Amino acid sequence: MNMRKLGYFSEFLLFPPLILVATVFAFRSSTPPQPAIWAIVYGAGLGGWSLIEYVLHRVLFHHAPILSRIHERHHLSPQELLGTPVWASALLGLIAVATPAWIALGFGLGSAATAGLVTGYLWYVFVHYATHQLRPARGSYLYRARLRHGRHHYLSHSGNFGVTTDVWDHLFGTAIKGRTEARRYQSTVSRRVRNAADRRPRPVD
Ligand SMILES: [Zn+2]
Ligand SMILES: [Zn+2]
Repeated sequence: MNMRKLGYFSEFLLFPPLILVATVFAFRSSTPPQPAIWAIVYGAGLGGWSLIEYVLHRVLFHHAPILSRIHERHHLSPQELLGTPVWASALLGLIAVATPAWIALGFGLGSAATAGLVTGYLWYVFVHYATHQLRPARGSYLYRARLRHGRHHYLSHSGNFGVTTDVWDHLFGTAIKGRTEARRYQSTVSRRVRNAADRRPRPVD
């Protein structure tokens, strides 16, 4: 794995151990949460992330100053590995997610909500990476995510804001469909990948 990829995926090295440590502390505390309640709150955090992902992309990534410029760069150069620095996402997670969750729900369930949100976020980072960098098997979940996200990139920037799921796009009326367009996207991407592969030396990692 090269350094650029390592930097892009550094959140995957830091966040799971932190979540695990918080969970162990929660269950070993003097007032441990009930496992079933913990699991429900974790699931709510996981599902809640998909809505945050939708709102972030639709509102902030396409309209907020600074963020929209960074996102525009992603739209212009989708295969460039543009990730959030791990220190920034860790700080943001601590201030905007973990601390309010601990204050509102207590440490045990607050950690469950945080763990669910962080899992959802990491899943989003991976799926978004996969939509641009991998060639998933036809008909698979990642294949559908790739087509869906491709329509956002190449057909219209005003729809398909959800990367991991299309639930919120359907609910808010921003889903972009079309098999023909999807095929065109696939062939465009295939052509680009082929051209890039012809130009580039084979990676060593
Ligand atoms: Zn993208
Ligand atoms: Zn976008």
